[in-house]
Amino acid sequence: MTSQTTYKRILLKLSGEALAGPNGYNIDPAILEQYSQEIKQVVDLGVEVAIVIGGGNIFRGVSGERSGIDRVQGDYMGMLATVINAMALQSSFEKHGMYTRVMSAIKMEQVCEPYVRRRAVRHLEKGRVVIFAAGTGSPYFTTDTTASLRAIEIEADVVLKGTKVDGVYTADPMKDKTATRYTTITFEDVYEKKLSVMDLTAFTLCQENSLPIIVFNMNTRGSLLKLVQGDGDQGTLITMKLPD
Ligand code: UDP
Repeated sequence: MTSQTTYKRILLKLSGEALAGPNGYNIDPAILEQYSQEIKQVVDLGVEVAIVIGGGNIFRGVSGERSGIDRVQGDYMGMLATVINAMALQSSFEKHGMYTRVMSAIKMEQVCEPYVRRRAVRHLEKGRVVIFAAGTGSPYFTTDTTASLRAIEIEADVVLKGTKVDGVYTADPMKDKTATRYTTITFEDVYEKKLSVMDLTAFTLCQENSLPIIVFNMNTRGSLLKLVQGDGDQGTLITMKLPD
């Protein structure tokens, strides 16, 4: 931890869809540029940054199934999609002067390193941004679950889930104008109120390992930086116990 930051090591989860920008598909260069700038500000503070990127902008196993592609085959296609996104991020990060490694849960040594936990930790200690690609390497999981799993493995201080909304609301803010945002909420309350944060596997992994999650808006400029600097008004913190 640096004197200016609350967290020493973060795991940032970015969805594939976010990379697509307003189009909803492919990779938007403007988003790549924006995300690189946001992440560089945090890296420059000395925070160790690991990223899990989704693949929803390119392919999702569940949607493939609807068009006749076998579910498991589709899930592998989805995992490969995350590698494409990871490579795009790496390229953009490197243009911004960040040392970056892509580590894949499915071996493809010509394009990236295989995921090896100890090696990932070493990269982080050396100040390199590590992008975890290919999800968990197994079908029927999501990249949210990958984020929780990798965060626990590398002993990250927090999972930062970058979304298009600025936190967890009492109701869907798009549909209900009276919905208000929680600044802090416990895992138990999220579960009891059936609020959507992550899929249940991902969520439970964090809860069982007392790993806090912060849901925040990745598209709000400066929000990521403020978060790691301890600004409690960014997003929603999901924690084991509410502060006294
Ligand atoms: N996927 C998988 N196993 C994993 C992670 C991902 O099979 O461990 C597949 C799954 O088909 C998923 C797709 O990869 O739909 C893309 O990931 P995800 O939907 O989580 O991406 P996001 O919604 O974050 O863009």
